[in-house]
Amino acid sequence: MAVLPPKIGTKEWKFMLTVNLHHLKSHEVHLEGELPVKELDLDLRDPMIRAEQPLRYDLTVEKLPDAILLTGSLCLPLDCECVRCLEPFEHELNLAEWTCLLPLTGEEKVTVDNDCVDLTPYLREDILLEFPRHPLCKPDCRGLEKTSTGKTKPGRKPRAETVSSPWTELNKLKL
Ligand SMILES: [Zn+2]
Repeated sequence: MAVLPPKIGTKEWKFMLTVNLHHLKSHEVHLEGELPVKELDLDLRDPMIRAEQPLRYDLTVEKLPDAILLTGSLCLPLDCECVRCLEPFEHELNLAEWTCLLPLTGEEKVTVDNDCVDLTPYLREDILLEFPRHPLCKPDCRGLEKTSTGKTKPGRKPRAETVSSPWTELNKLKL
């Protein structure tokens, strides 16, 4: 994949979730929107989980005496495959009351570039921690059914015909 060179004087070549410390001096900043998931640079090792949809964020940024406080919500839809029955399903990763403290002093202090702090790495860390370790389509998924030959096959869903409904009752009457 080609890497776009930065355009001089603008940062539009890359989506970045940044906050300007200068703006924070007088008031808190509200950030809301979507971040293309590739900007998060998630290092996904699990083939059962794909992240292709954008991250939605809704954050309030406050300046504390020697730190920046982020509070708000993060939401990332994931396309998963159930580890038991191999059925695809969507899992929404939700960090509803997310908070993150970014120190401006000390060893752990954030990198400030032109008064701006890139928040993306801090989002990435906490999002990765929330990833399901063993994605399951439902907590009690029974997974692959064993057949008499000992081989496994995907679990079957109940077929529509076996469920009693006014239509199946009507069909019986017709017969
Ligand atoms: Zn399942």
